[in-house]
Amino acid sequence: MLTPDERERYDRQILIEQIGPEGQEKLKRSRVVIAGAGGLGSPIAIYLTAAGVGMIRLIDHDRVSLSNLNRQILHWEEDIGKKKVQSAATKLRNLNPGIKIEAIDETITEANVSHLLEGCDAIVDAMDNLSTRYILNRCAIEKNIPFFHGAIRGFEGRAMTILPGKTACLRCMYRGSVPEEKFPVIGVTPAVIGCIQATEVIKYLLGIGQLLTNRLLMYDGLEALFTEFAVNRNPECDHCGQIK
Ligand SMILES: [Zn+2]
Repeated sequence: MLTPDERERYDRQILIEQIGPEGQEKLKRSRVVIAGAGGLGSPIAIYLTAAGVGMIRLIDHDRVSLSNLNRQILHWEEDIGKKKVQSAATKLRNLNPGIKIEAIDETITEANVSHLLEGCDAIVDAMDNLSTRYILNRCAIEKNIPFFHGAIRGFEGRAMTILPGKTACLRCMYRGSVPEEKFPVIGVTPAVIGCIQATEVIKYLLGIGQLLTNRLLMYDGLEALFTEFAVNRNPECDHCGQIK
């Protein structure tokens, strides 16, 4: 049940026909992992916290630095040197004290990923490298938990939603590896892509709308263009090919 305060806090979204008080209660019962508390993780965490997702587990091993502040809007100048998950948790708890925020200061590896993703309803990709994305993708498929991919570079970004065993996964789309490097980015790009990912998570948790499955949404901020590519499930995929 929603408390009177919750009814007031979420009044405007409860007014949305497809949400209503029942939808709001669904969000309250939901548990979401956000892998990364940086450029993408900031808007994703802010909007899911504001929307009333009951539990949010934020995972990041990094500390805040000055060069993060052009895009990682959960972190402010006073946070430089602090752990990102601690900086983020403080802001999110101030925004909405009713949400359980789990701040996990760890690097995601093959060894710990299963434990880190335990007991959640959705996994959001807010990473900055493909190798960790593969680890998350594989584990999401094993655990049959939806995975919400997002990536950015410069003024460009992309997003796709993965329902294990039903729709194309990240590995159906990408092969090989990309060298890790310092890539360019302006803050508005992760804001756009992170908000698309957060919208997808909310829709999935509520069971409403059309998800961004089997299609990669590409955003070009300079041209002000959204385009999409069909992505087919690969029966030979080494992550999801064996999953029915
Ligand atoms: Zn696949």
